[in-house]
Amino acid sequence: MPAEAQVETPAERPPVPVAKPPAPPLAQPALPRPAVPQTARTAAPAAADPARSAHIAGLDWDELEAEIRACKACRLCEKRRQAVPGVGDRQARWLFVGEGPGAEEDQRGEPFVGAAGRLLDNMLAALGLKRGEGVYIANAVKCRPPHNRTPEADEIATCLPFLERQIALIQPQLIVVLGRPAAQALLGTETGIGAARGKRFDYRGIPLVVTYHPAYLLRNQADKAKAWEDLCFARRRLAESGSSGQG
Ligand code: URA
Repeated sequence: MPAEAQVETPAERPPVPVAKPPAPPLAQPALPRPAVPQTARTAAPAAADPARSAHIAGLDWDELEAEIRACKACRLCEKRRQAVPGVGDRQARWLFVGEGPGAEEDQRGEPFVGAAGRLLDNMLAALGLKRGEGVYIANAVKCRPPHNRTPEADEIATCLPFLERQIALIQPQLIVVLGRPAAQALLGTETGIGAARGKRFDYRGIPLVVTYHPAYLLRNQADKAKAWEDLCFARRRLAESGSSGQG
């Protein structure tokens, strides 16, 4: 796995102090852009169960959260304390998608509440955003993988209908994918973050931007500047779609 694509999970994380992201640069760096938007294909993984997917696609918010909490569709249910559906504004413009709950998230039932979450909150603040206000935060898998390992492809695939339904209910104007497993879930293909950054993906017509996972940034502080470029790129894509991006 290339170093830049590694995703670290909370328990493996060294106790690095959470630093604020670099001050927003005034001029936005030019990023490589293909002329034509790249449409993320919907993943059709081996674990897909059409009847289950169709059922989940018809759930309302309360039903969806209840089904996520009760889900036993893959092995991740065995070691979890609780499933972690997601948090935030159900009519958010911005959707951030991470990898999966870590130890603190498993305990508290909310995504990104550990050190990586504090960095994510700082990244949101740099954009003038706040958790829960115009922002929804979800994960590719809703249950903590044992020992905070990276979720397996079949686990991501089994959990994907939940994320797809969250996206359909929220109808965000932009999706920011944090790290490789989340990119794998929504792009339907394994891709390195370094290769996907700055590309104009979309997911079912929604602009989608790929950047580093905050836990990776805690270990690789030099790449925070690149992450800030990605967030600025995300903000530009939102502006192109006619939204200010605030709240
Ligand atoms: N990392 C993630 O990808 N998601 C969380 O909720 C916490 C840490």
